[in-house]
Amino acid sequence: MVSILAIAVVGGIGALLATMLVLAERFISNYGDVEVVINDGEKKYTARGGTSLLESLRSEKIFIPSACGGRGTCAYCKVRVLDGGGPLLPTEEPYMDTREREQGIRLSCQVKVRNDIQMEIPSELLSIREYQCRCADITDFTYDIKQFTLKMFDPPTIAYKPGQYVQLFSPAYPGSSEEVYRAYSISSDPKDRSSIELIVRRVPGGIATTYLFDHLKTDETVRLNGPYGEFYLRDTGAAIVFIAGGSGIAPIKCMLHHMVNTKNERTAVFFFGVRGDKDIFLFDRMKQFEDELPNFTFVPIVAQPDEGSQWQGKTGNMIEVAADYLKKMQKPQDCEGYLCGSPGLINAAVAMLTDLGIPRERHFYDKFA
Ligand SMILES: Cc1cc2nc3c(=O)[nH]c(=O)nc-3n(C[C@H](O)[C@H](O)[C@H](O)COP(=O)(O)OP(=O)(O)OC[C@H]3O[C@@H](n4cnc5c(N)ncnc54)[C@H](O)[C@@H]3O)c2cc1C
Repeated sequence: MVSILAIAVVGGIGALLATMLVLAERFISNYGDVEVVINDGEKKYTARGGTSLLESLRSEKIFIPSACGGRGTCAYCKVRVLDGGGPLLPTEEPYMDTREREQGIRLSCQVKVRNDIQMEIPSELLSIREYQCRCADITDFTYDIKQFTLKMFDPPTIAYKPGQYVQLFSPAYPGSSEEVYRAYSISSDPKDRSSIELIVRRVPGGIATTYLFDHLKTDETVRLNGPYGEFYLRDTGAAIVFIAGGSGIAPIKCMLHHMVNTKNERTAVFFFGVRGDKDIFLFDRMKQFEDELPNFTFVPIVAQPDEGSQWQGKTGNMIEVAADYLKKMQKPQDCEGYLCGSPGLINAAVAMLTDLGIPRERHFYDKFA
């Protein structure tokens, strides 16, 4: 009885302190107006101090790539802060090498705007735009993967490199008061600039995927910004090894459409892995690419087919299947690797391609972290 009372008292004090901290942050930590100067004056604005630099830039419609919603875990939102950012924080340290520390590179989601700030970002980020779209269609691919078709209306078209991603705004909804942005790769045919398709896997308990799966309805407006990313086909003649798992197929599908549109005849093989029979999707569309591209081979892998499954293709560990296949190629070390999916898959694929002699500068990937 006494211990229950003690737990209740300690819990109550904790909740009270947390509330006081939130109120203090809101009402006492008033840093007043500060000036943020970007790229030596290419852009400057006056901000209210107290928010993160990432948020402050976003409110000025300057969009820095960020995939973890400001939790300081994806390290995508690096910017160079020349003055006014304060010392490097322990939360940033694991993501900075010595050179970056010397150059003043910071995670913009961790830097608080408290003083005037001088900073640098790649100029092209200043041209990233915000888009309003209408959710034109939602299609179930599997029990946990859906395709969302978004029709652009303001502005009416979007330009991007096949393989790039957008950041989609997930508003508050019943059960979640958080407003977040999440990265989703464009999967559609880049010939059509008036709409884009996204292939999304539901993450149990995830903020944005719960919004997309349980709350977003067709005809509703969706906000996004972009495009972002360095994951696009390099213009070389090298043979291509695509490797993806689950919704990681999205940017590769976009690249394959682009290869068809540009009559690309490069040798390419796509290892696409899913867990079981119920996870199979888009296999038929990928087979169709074999008809449309003269030198393209699709190798689907079902890790663990169900008992009594009709599946007659490759099974087991997709990285081992890919390694066996690639070892039989003439010169695997001359290939380029394009990888997309979970961090575990990408790490395993990078190790496998490295073992085959493909140098790291020819591995390109997006980790869905
Ligand atoms: C470049 C890039 C492209 C991507 N493209 C795609 C794509 O095309 N398709 C696709 O399906 N996904 C893609 N992703 C992944 C996507 O951006 C999201 O990470 C994913 O959809 C999960 O978002 P969420 O908001 O639903 O989950 P989150 O709310 O971010 O939660 C993710 C997990 O973390 C846990 N979590 C939530 N909050 C916290 C917290 N505060 N601390 C610790 N853990 C927490 C949740 O319980 C959950 O298990 C991409 C990612 C990147 C980086």
